[in-house]
Amino acid sequence: MEVKVGQGVLEIVEGDITQQDTEAVVNAANTSLLGGGGVDGAIHRAGGPQILEECRQIGGCPTGEARITTGGNLRARYVIHTVGPVYRDGLHREPELLASCYRESLKMASAKGIKTVAFPSISTGAYGYPMEAAARIALKTVKDYLAEHPEIQRVRFVLFGRPAYEVYEKALKESFK
Ligand code: ADP
Repeated sequence: MEVKVGQGVLEIVEGDITQQDTEAVVNAANTSLLGGGGVDGAIHRAGGPQILEECRQIGGCPTGEARITTGGNLRARYVIHTVGPVYRDGLHREPELLASCYRESLKMASAKGIKTVAFPSISTGAYGYPMEAAARIALKTVKDYLAEHPEIQRVRFVLFGRPAYEVYEKALKESFK
């Protein structure tokens, strides 16, 4: 499913973030940037050791911020690494930190002249963020950014499995009511 937002397109698909043909893919990293499971493990496995070497040089990333490396062997030319919040109870700045991940990743794309970006659902795996709440924040933050930044042409959410896709689809439909 896709919708127009300003000059750009916001799209949701079911799939694997490592297989995307966007100029950049976003990694759900941890503060060390030294690799992990889930999306992070998949990106480093598919992208090869070059990405990890660049991450080592960068030396880490605080929660809510973003850093960029090349895409190694991925189809995407760049990987934007962002660190989502670990979900505790929703009262520890989790919503604003999650929104910050999407915004900072898109700011990085704008700064680098990247026009197409694919995101996974940040924080909803090992970091335990409830998917419905995370989907609402993710979609709203990206919509707001697209409305103000015509340089970004396409943002794709790549949801892992049908249930995750359906949560985002419902949230996207709700957000356009
Ligand atoms: P976090 O630590 O930020 O929670 P995870 O990588 O554990 O990050 O999970 C984030 C989301 O990405 C989860 O909803 C998970 O199901 C999904 N996911 C896992 N592997 C992939 C993949 N290859 N492509 C896209 N999404 C994935």
